[in-house]
Amino acid sequence: MYMDNSATSPVDEEVLKEMLPFFNERFGNASTLYRLGVDAKEVLEKARKQVADLINADPSEITFTSGGTESDNMVIKGIALKEIQKSTEENPRNHIITSAIEHPAVLKTCEFLEKFGFEVTYLPVDEEGLISLDDLKNAIKDSTILITIMHANNEVGTIQPIKEIGEIAREHNIPFHTDAVQSAGKIPVDVKEQNIDLLSLSSHKINGPKGVGAVYIKKGIRLEVFMHGGGQENGLRSGTENIPGIVGFGKAAELANERLEEHMKHNQEIRDALIEKVLANIKDSYVNGSLEHRLPNNVHFRFSGVEGESLILRLDNEGIDGATGSACSTHDLKGSHVLAALGIKPALSHGSLRLSIGPENSIDDVDYIVASIKKVVDYLRDLSPLWDNEEDKYIGDRFEKPVEDEDLDRY
Ligand code: PLP
Repeated sequence: MYMDNSATSPVDEEVLKEMLPFFNERFGNASTLYRLGVDAKEVLEKARKQVADLINADPSEITFTSGGTESDNMVIKGIALKEIQKSTEENPRNHIITSAIEHPAVLKTCEFLEKFGFEVTYLPVDEEGLISLDDLKNAIKDSTILITIMHANNEVGTIQPIKEIGEIAREHNIPFHTDAVQSAGKIPVDVKEQNIDLLSLSSHKINGPKGVGAVYIKKGIRLEVFMHGGGQENGLRSGTENIPGIVGFGKAAELANERLEEHMKHNQEIRDALIEKVLANIKDSYVNGSLEHRLPNNVHFRFSGVEGESLILRLDNEGIDGATGSACSTHDLKGSHVLAALGIKPALSHGSLRLSIGPENSIDDVDYIVASIKKVVDYLRDLSPLWDNEEDKYIGDRFEKPVEDEDLDRY
């Protein structure tokens, strides 16, 4: 039972079928003039339209990249390098606003820019993972060149008030970027309606192939070129286009768009049943993040007295694939920077479990999943020094320390 769709998702059969001819039969380079090349150029433009339609953009506003990480880097560094050229001592153009719970593709890019004299404000979040719009307004300065706040969080699934953030950015004439890697194809994304200027997408989160993504750049917004070379993608992203990947991404975007309502309903039904049954059946279990502002395909639990890595390995034995901490970095045993920012103490954040739902999961599996989680949690608590078996309660508090600053910047 694969329940880690926020880490990556299987390529849809229809997507795969669409991609296959582009490896060896229709293998042209989209920059060449003969028929094979023209064919590649045509499917490239078709995919651009399919991706644009998913977020209500114009195809000319879509640039293909190698994935969400590149898209985030391209936007943040591209704006930073463009603006710094206009910077003067009296009128600096070097301030970026982001949040404490962004994906490392955003956070590490911002940290990198700090080394070169950029100033970054990392907005805190409340216990549900939401930023405060007042904090955002207060953080804006004359030197602010970019606001980058993710649409939905990859760990706890919290959805930010993106339209309102965009409105504030527009009022101050500051470009607004959102990392929509986890939200596009899962909930409605509309760049016009939601006041978005720049947006990052990734194909492998929506049943498309890995290694392909896109950036939406609203007409009129200028970025410094990030990848120099042969001038593909309107000079913004050089390198021979990954035609099979882009064709697959286009098809995946089209299917995600067509099936959005149906998938939202399907995912939400499973999500809500999992939450209800886990909370009812497992003592000392909690939901991380927001119940109200939450991706329909995300559940994120915390079980006191349990260690997340063991939870994942034992659930694997039960045939269930899930994640603890951030799936992009499970090789890294540090506590999650997202859970720390939500104020969850390190020992408790280590006992977390993310299950991210996909079209292949079924409501009929919920009872088995809940029974398996209960079995594994009971087993691990039996062995845990943080759980008193006689009293059947968590005793880890006595070893706890409050969340420290250093916990907040671990990722
Ligand atoms: N942004 C978010 C919110 C993500 O969840 C991920 C991947 O997990 C990325 C960016 C990186 O995307 P990619 O794997 O396509 O580089």
